[in-house]
Amino acid sequence: MRLSTFYAPTLKEDPADAEVVSHKLLLRAGMIRKLTAGVYTYLPLGLRAVNNVANVVRQEMNRAGALEVLMPAVQPGDLWKESGRWNVYGKELLRFIDRHDRECCLGPTHEEVVTDLVRHEIRSYRQLPLNLYQIQTKFRDEIRPRFGLMRGREFIMKDAYSFDKDDAGADTSYFAMYDAYARIFSRLGLRFRAVEADSGPIGGSFSHEFMVLAATGEDTIVACSACEYGANLEKAEAVCHMAEESTFCPPAEVVATPGVHTVEEVAAFLGVAADRIIKTLLYVADGKVVAALVRGDREVNEIKLKNVLGATEMELASPEVVTKVTGAPVGFAGPVGLAVDVVYADKELFGRSDWIVGANAADAHLRHVDLARDATVECSLDLRQVAAGDMCPKCGKPLLFTKGIEVGHVFKLGTKYSTTMGAMFLDEEGKERPLIMGCYGIGVSRVVAACLEQNNDEHGIVFPPPMAPFEVALLNLSPKDETAVAKATELHDLLAGMGVEVLLDDRDERPGVKFKDADLMGFPMQLVLGGKGLGRGVVETKDRRTGEKGELPLESFAEAFA
Ligand code: ATP
Ligand code: MG
Ligand code: MG
Ligand code: MG
Repeated sequence: MRLSTFYAPTLKEDPADAEVVSHKLLLRAGMIRKLTAGVYTYLPLGLRAVNNVANVVRQEMNRAGALEVLMPAVQPGDLWKESGRWNVYGKELLRFIDRHDRECCLGPTHEEVVTDLVRHEIRSYRQLPLNLYQIQTKFRDEIRPRFGLMRGREFIMKDAYSFDKDDAGADTSYFAMYDAYARIFSRLGLRFRAVEADSGPIGGSFSHEFMVLAATGEDTIVACSACEYGANLEKAEAVCHMAEESTFCPPAEVVATPGVHTVEEVAAFLGVAADRIIKTLLYVADGKVVAALVRGDREVNEIKLKNVLGATEMELASPEVVTKVTGAPVGFAGPVGLAVDVVYADKELFGRSDWIVGANAADAHLRHVDLARDATVECSLDLRQVAAGDMCPKCGKPLLFTKGIEVGHVFKLGTKYSTTMGAMFLDEEGKERPLIMGCYGIGVSRVVAACLEQNNDEHGIVFPPPMAPFEVALLNLSPKDETAVAKATELHDLLAGMGVEVLLDDRDERPGVKFKDADLMGFPMQLVLGGKGLGRGVVETKDRRTGEKGELPLESFAEAFA
């Protein structure tokens, strides 16, 4: 590709209406232009970056077994009435009436459409699991569109929807997407954190948000200073031990590190099959394990819970009940209270729960409450050794508050849509049951903006290579010199032939202009051809991120890119 025939209208000055750095740079580097509030045209460079994100997303979705489809942007209002969201979604849903007086909307998300599709197609458990995704333009009439691609009204989203026959399958689908998201954002070179989140107006029972860490983020997240725990503010307020002066990480997920305690060891200790362990969640306070979360394999209802605890639902979280479950002294309702949270979480997340595992914080001896058997079983193994291992236990350490940009969100929806919209299947026994759903979004266009918030300097964008519109900028500093032009063309064609995305700056411009533009557009590698270097048979190289310069002899040029 040649810059002389390309279209990347760069701007020298920061545009007046752009507040955050990504918005400024997207405009200045000629990547987007605004049509109207929150609605943008992607120019060639911007589109290449968006497509690079989309391709990484596509590869990882495919790898995780999701199947790409493309659903309509226009949706019938009737479907939204069926799901019950027509009257609750509010003004973010852009509604209109077609020539036949039918109410319609522009899709802000696609639960209704995909559930409608699947309810007409899926008959049997044999057709499950199924995960359908699309990369598509969404419209949300945001009250305050701003920050360019960060909060648009029209934007590109990847949305996936999973359908399973049972809870265990739905959990597997959920964590497959969770893992795919982690791979996607790592591959794209983002500094991010997956945090626990409330499931919000889409509904459902459990969810995580993927947050790109940036001061300009509109979300507040808490992150533990010592362990991996993270949550968005609303969620953290619900579960963290918040004191007046400081806020502490709740005893939360501790994934046993190899060499300390494996899933099998914990399973053996708890006396359950290893496949009943959800990851390995150990709840730790004051360096001691206070609870562990296990998947139940029997139906349990709240009555049993109440029977065992001898408490009403309202009292479940009281210190007295905590004491009953955990054996901890009354008044120790802080971290140990999490043991009760475990009950709630387990029930909520997995729809059933037959184990509460609590521990006495004083001696760290675990105690099982087997809800199915209405019995309390004391355990003998002292798990202090787990906590004392070199895991940076979670943890009771201070929490840090930080800002994040939500780039992805995974929800376990359960049967919310399948029940209201009648998306049923026949199980192994020929019984009709609602599909268990999950939904998973990534703001593809927002990812580009979030990336620029993290990857820039005073000269412009510093693209991580996987997102860069071009990997290499080849600057011909002597565009009027025939030898230089011939050499530049040769190198350009050589690189392009090797599959390297290269942009040749062949414009009749001063070197200073070319350097400035290449820096602004942020291509990871600059190759500079012309002047003295060419005479000596070398191309000068510059790493955009480090600024490190070097020389490549023309003779060994091809090998350097092989
Ligand atoms: P936010 O909290 O920022 O409003 P959301 O929680 O409403 O986002 P979801 O419904 O979870 O968004 O949609 C999935 C993803 O789509 C989000 O994680 C985000 O990356 C992206 N997204 C949502 N709204 C916008 C928007 N207005 N502009 C660009 N991307 C968006
Ligand atoms: Mg929103
Ligand atoms: Mg959100
Ligand atoms: Mg969200």
